[in-house]
Amino acid sequence: MKGLYIKTYGCQMNVYDSVLMENVVKPLGFSVVGDAEKADLVILNTCHIREKAAEKLYLELGKIRLLQKRKEIIIVVAGCVAQAEGKEVFRRAPFVDIVVGPQSIATLPELIVKASRSKGHVINTDFPEVAKFDKLPAECYGSSQGSSAFLAIQEGCDKFCTFCVVPYTRGAEYSRPVNEIFCEALKLVANGAKEINLLGQNVNAYHGECEGEVCDLGRLISHIAKIENLERIRYITSHPRDMHESLYLAHAEEPKLMPFIHLPVQSGSNKILHAMNRKYTAEEYLEIIDRFRKLKPEIEFSSDFIVGFPGETEKDFEETMKLVEKVKYAQAYSFKYSPRPGTPGAERKDQVPEEVKTERLLRLQKLISEQQLEFNQNVVGKTIPVLFSDKRGKHQNQIIGKSPYMQSVCTDDHEGKYKDKIVNVRILEARQNSLLGVPFTDF
Ligand code: SF4
Repeated sequence: MKGLYIKTYGCQMNVYDSVLMENVVKPLGFSVVGDAEKADLVILNTCHIREKAAEKLYLELGKIRLLQKRKEIIIVVAGCVAQAEGKEVFRRAPFVDIVVGPQSIATLPELIVKASRSKGHVINTDFPEVAKFDKLPAECYGSSQGSSAFLAIQEGCDKFCTFCVVPYTRGAEYSRPVNEIFCEALKLVANGAKEINLLGQNVNAYHGECEGEVCDLGRLISHIAKIENLERIRYITSHPRDMHESLYLAHAEEPKLMPFIHLPVQSGSNKILHAMNRKYTAEEYLEIIDRFRKLKPEIEFSSDFIVGFPGETEKDFEETMKLVEKVKYAQAYSFKYSPRPGTPGAERKDQVPEEVKTERLLRLQKLISEQQLEFNQNVVGKTIPVLFSDKRGKHQNQIIGKSPYMQSVCTDDHEGKYKDKIVNVRILEARQNSLLGVPFTDF
């Protein structure tokens, strides 16, 4: 066997793509190694969302180059930076062998063979007419990912938010057919998954085919929920514009669907939402939250915020703060706006000064942290179901799992009996980013 080392950056979709790439190159004799030193093939699966993504890639490539000087290694740059940079990767890092975009990963085996034979640069950043999901062999899907697995049901985006590169790097929206998703879910559960995270850049825009009809996300969830031994379903990332009746219903009626929704709002100012091309207002967003809470009072929310989008005034930012106060999030992610080349936001002349963005971000993060801590503290004294994986805690014999609300829960597991199980845990202590508890059986 030859060694394959994959370093994955960014979102869950990239984690999922890395599993597909691992499986698609297996027939060439590669199996995963945990250390780049032992690798014959190194894949950097990159992300373009964070600032200076390209610079970080070239820094990492510099380290891999040192390894390549000592032994023969094929170096692949994959993911959204590969798509965005294209041949520029070879110009800045001539020792890279292959550049492959997210839609072309099915061609990886032939690219590897070509690169080994020609010893030259090989690139595929096409958006093929046949979606990548349909090009990959069936064996690539459903391999064991442990007790919590990712399953991509949708990819790409047609929304063109003015700050985002995804429509350019991942292409147009595509939904996989229901039967393919169902078969993959069955395999994942047979391979030990208790929880499935349905993935998509715009997951609730899902509109897959099912026996000649169109099936939306709510109906897909109800379908998958029938799988025996599957205990939890989640989905990420949703868009407020794509809420639909059957999704509300699924949350109200399907006990396997976790009562936790990641619903990015980005800003509380209608002026900024319009400039971002989000196509909803703060009021409409709040109505969605209200409707979910009326249907299922225990439901909780997380969100994404961009602070300092071009043209954002102090008043606009205050509206974001007010929205956060109204919703009271269980957790949320917030970032300073940073221009992405090629997006309309980057062209605007009214960029917000860096120090203003920093000051607003700190204020927002303080409020979000207070809400998160309060939410965590409210769980102290309660007993909640926690899904443990193989993730270990900082202390010896400590294991970490997830609550229904994605809180990290740490507990002692001296006998190693909780891994991959859902266990009722009595919560004793709340921290900013985690909970500490004792399994109810040991209490
Ligand atoms: S909906 Fe999401 S993925 Fe699509 S452009 Fe907007 S931020 Fe990007």
